[in-house]
Amino acid sequence: TPVLEVEGLVKHYRGRAGTGTVRAVNGVDLSIGRGEILGLVGESGSGKSTIGRCVARLTAPTAGRVRLLGQDISAMSRRELRPLRRDVHVVFQDAYSSLNPRTKIGDIVAGPLRQHREGDVRERRGRAAEMLERVGLPARTATRYPHELSGGQRQRVALARALVMRPRLVVADEPVSALDVSVQASILNLLLDLRSDLGFSCLFITHDLSVVEFVGDRIAVMYLGGIVETATRQELFAHP
Ligand code: ADP
Ligand code: ADP
Repeated sequence: TPVLEVEGLVKHYRGRAGTGTVRAVNGVDLSIGRGEILGLVGESGSGKSTIGRCVARLTAPTAGRVRLLGQDISAMSRRELRPLRRDVHVVFQDAYSSLNPRTKIGDIVAGPLRQHREGDVRERRGRAAEMLERVGLPARTATRYPHELSGGQRQRVALARALVMRPRLVVADEPVSALDVSVQASILNLLLDLRSDLGFSCLFITHDLSVVEFVGDRIAVMYLGGIVETATRQELFAHP
């Protein structure tokens, strides 16, 4: 069974007074296999982030099904969702705004372990240190604060935090879009290495065709709230 299966996903937002409904996603189907990276590409406003937020159940869909590891999470309550939160984590574009500025990097990375009551302080510290090493940061980074790091280093921290629970699915929403092109390549290579080592699946959201060509095993193209094409990287980017 696929790690993620989305069927007929619809998400409408209530607009501001008098502006009517925003039809952000209008009936999307997609699936992601074990260890696969699905690139979701499309212009700004086409509904990519909304799909990511529904898949991680940071928001509830208006209609349709989202099956994570075979379980339909689309209408689950907070309580029912709690165990499944171990299996999906989101990495956002701007690590600076999603990393608490007053928390040391080691505690940021260990955060999901604390939230899910895994191990004691010592064990959590050890697992955070191991993740920092895996993402290529020196051990002393654990005692630093987010503002002391570069954008690329912060995105490495965001990846370490996302993976510390060993989730089955990572939703990466424009994870390199705020970085210089040379730094982008190092983060994308890191993501591919980590995927090989740890075997997670990934929904990779980007507006950038060259980024999706680099990381996507399969690619879904979005336009106005719908997927207009799905293809393998080879099919989509065949250079004759
Ligand atoms: P993308 O990620 O492709 O840029 P989004 O999913 O962020 O697209 O947005 C899709 C549409 O939904 C856009 O028109 C956007 O303005 C609208 N939208 C996104 N979030 C909200 C929200 N919380 N409330 C109202 N409209 C929203
Ligand atoms: P809480 O409401 O428990 O204080 P948050 O508001 O930070 O926590 O998050 C709400 C839920 O979303 C939590 O269950 C948390 O596990 C989950 N969550 C928070 N951040 C992420 C993320 N980046 N990826 C996936 N799930 C997240």
